[in-house]
Amino acid sequence: MSIETLVQQANQSSTPFNKESFDEVVMSTYGRFPLAFEKGDGCRLWDTEGKEYLDFVAGIATCTLGHAHPALIEAVTRQIQKIHHVSNLYYIPEQGELARWIVDHSCADKVFFCNSGAEANEAAIKLARKYAHTVLDIDNPIILTANASFHGRTLATVTATGQPKYQKNFNPLVPGFHYVDYNDIDAVEAAIGELDEGDYAVGAILLEPLQGEGGVRPGDVKYFQKLRSICDETGILLMFDEVQVGMGRSGKLWGYEYLGVEPDVFTSAKGLGGGIPIGAMMAKKFCDVFQPGEHASTFGGNPFACAVALAVCHTLEKENIVQNAHHRGEQLRSGLQAIAQKYPQYIAEVRGWGLINGMELQSDIELTAIDVVKAAMNEGLLLVPAGTKVVRFVPPLIVTEAEIDRALQIVEQIIAKL
Ligand SMILES: *Cc1c(COP(=O)(O)O)cnc(C)c1O
Repeated sequence: MSIETLVQQANQSSTPFNKESFDEVVMSTYGRFPLAFEKGDGCRLWDTEGKEYLDFVAGIATCTLGHAHPALIEAVTRQIQKIHHVSNLYYIPEQGELARWIVDHSCADKVFFCNSGAEANEAAIKLARKYAHTVLDIDNPIILTANASFHGRTLATVTATGQPKYQKNFNPLVPGFHYVDYNDIDAVEAAIGELDEGDYAVGAILLEPLQGEGGVRPGDVKYFQKLRSICDETGILLMFDEVQVGMGRSGKLWGYEYLGVEPDVFTSAKGLGGGIPIGAMMAKKFCDVFQPGEHASTFGGNPFACAVALAVCHTLEKENIVQNAHHRGEQLRSGLQAIAQKYPQYIAEVRGWGLINGMELQSDIELTAIDVVKAAMNEGLLLVPAGTKVVRFVPPLIVTEAEIDRALQIVEQIIAKL
């Protein structure tokens, strides 16, 4: 059967969806909305009943190029016909090309590939520990992370995540982490001093340039610049989790570009493959301490995922998509700010970078982010909460001016009806 026929069939067939049957056999790890999608195009999605939605979730800040982008279709089709997986027993040219693109477009010298954000952060945590043992001579290195952060759901990354709600019932957690308040330099200095005892000392600091899941909170420039100089003086590694904010979402390619500092190590995942699973950990040459056999992933950096991610990277460049994220972000923020000014009884603040934005609801009212998300869903706009009081806007980076206007219209309509 030709690819054209397959695509045609996929577009025609409408599979009836049975929620009860799904829930019978799939673990209930997610609080799902009673909605299933069948088809997407750009920033639009259609559910199994045929209702159209404007997608301002993008698979949680992941579908960089939206849905069914020609560059994605082309890369997936081309690569799957050629070769898709061979393992890292062999050289993978596509992996080398993607690493070269990342190195050419960031402060990194070397890249390790895996399949998700949590795995990328796991790799960073292992690298930091080895660096602390072998270079800083710390027997029990401690990694500082921030309260309200999010770094993933594996045991080490859920421990790194400074939110007790994600850790409850999963003890014993992984040792070697300590939490400080975000954007609070005194807290970092105090922790470094207090934790330096016997075999123990701080070996690395892991932070998001902008806290995504924890409520869309941008990093403070002065704080990060001070962190950089502390790390330069002490040898402590400065590591950034760019899983959500990186790959152009912030309106710059990397979130750290807003902070005027370079990390020693940073991680990427969500937007990197435009929706195809891939993660990466980047490091500068001086802390590239892994030896053969010390870290690995069967799927990591396979030809398929790398070819697709490379197509995402090339398309970002060719179609000026990062610039689009910057301009559409300004449009979205100023629109949301106008709504906030009109309805200050409901909206406390609007903040964000590029196309990662949060609308924080007033704390003294009952209205929660999920209420707004549900109301928007009824009106055909998909949004996602970031915590209980913040509504997050993370559309595909290809979003148009008209689509931002439409989303703003819907948000205003919902707020006006409250
Ligand atoms: C989503 C996210 C992760 C975890 O990524 P997964 O691919 O779900 O493992 C880690 N860090 C940040 C900042 C994220 O937003």
